[in-house]
Amino acid sequence: MGQYYLVYLELRNGAIAKSSIDVWNRFQELAACIDDRMYGFAAGPAAEGAFDVLQGNGTIYHAAGSRSGSASDVAVCAMLEELACRHGVTGIALASTAMGRRLAPLLSGRLRAALLSGCREFGGPDEACSRFIHSGSVIASYMPASAITVFLQGRELVSPDFCAAERPQIEVFDAAPYLDAGIDVLFRPVMHSSQGRDIAEASVIVAGGRGMGSPEAFGLLEELAALFGGSVGASRSAVDEGWRPHGEQIGQTGKRVAPDLYIACGISGALQHLAGIAAARIVVAVNSDPDAPIFGAADYGIVGDVRIVLPELIAAVRDLLTKK
Ligand SMILES: Cc1cc2nc3c(=O)[nH]c(=O)nc-3n(C[C@H](O)[C@H](O)[C@H](O)COP(=O)(O)OP(=O)(O)OC[C@H]3O[C@@H](n4cnc5c(N)ncnc54)[C@H](O)[C@@H]3O)c2cc1C
Repeated sequence: MGQYYLVYLELRNGAIAKSSIDVWNRFQELAACIDDRMYGFAAGPAAEGAFDVLQGNGTIYHAAGSRSGSASDVAVCAMLEELACRHGVTGIALASTAMGRRLAPLLSGRLRAALLSGCREFGGPDEACSRFIHSGSVIASYMPASAITVFLQGRELVSPDFCAAERPQIEVFDAAPYLDAGIDVLFRPVMHSSQGRDIAEASVIVAGGRGMGSPEAFGLLEELAALFGGSVGASRSAVDEGWRPHGEQIGQTGKRVAPDLYIACGISGALQHLAGIAAARIVVAVNSDPDAPIFGAADYGIVGDVRIVLPELIAAVRDLLTKK
């Protein structure tokens, strides 16, 4: 019997969130069998062509709403539940955003579905799902026993290079019945971090630790991140020093990120920090101590003082970008 998957596609400022695209792509890969079906659901205003970034088969339902922002949790949950029942869905998948983390347990309770959170690798209801435990040192596998499973992606999800010629069909989802039923379909503004975006969505992160020496020195990281169109992150020590906001902390008790490029500056590479960057594609480390553990997790390393290395790196990247 085929698997029927429903992916919640989060809209931010009218665009589909990168983490939702990753989940959609992963499930497109899973839905390879002839009987498998893919559905998507998005709530809130979408910019023109917002769904063009999604490839593969299936149908995406869009509840546009009338005001700016995102639909309330209860309304989105009710609409997802209706689609899951209408199509006999076996797996519902959400990205691990703040919204996804609120919706997943709600859906699990309403549908009496198993909830598998922090997945680094998804499978169908008959296959194992895996996730890191013990600060990323062990991979555990899980077997859902219920008819429907709610999958909550972990930051360590290996984002696939999915490519398909087909495009999903977009259908309007009428939210009016949910209003009639007295369900709150208010649209409210989405909260943004001080950098104007969620660091977990960034494809390039330039992060600093205690080795940066001062909050002012993070200006160099902001400069480098801006050249890549990326975001600034921080170790817990830098956050504890009060140099950066907690929303930028990366690691076990911070955010788990999955950028294409992660540049760690003046960060020692403690296990708790590395737990947050397990899914980064390329890691570059700058540290004055050649024995710093971060070099063990890095693809490229520069041994040197951040105050000397970073200005040179910024000049070199700027030079490269101007020549392009
Ligand atoms: C339960 C628990 C949860 C935790 N959660 C997290 C978490 O989520 N995220 C996190 O990051 N940490 C977390 N930690 C803390 C973690 O164990 C480390 O203490 C922390 O990551 C260290 O931060 P750091 O690398 O910035 O600082 P340090 O360990 O002090 O390292 C600073 C580094 O900078 C280098 N350096 C110094 N000066 C320079 C210079 N001028 N140029 C270049 N390099 C320089 C040094 O060689 C050193 O390697 C947690 C700890 C616990 C116990």
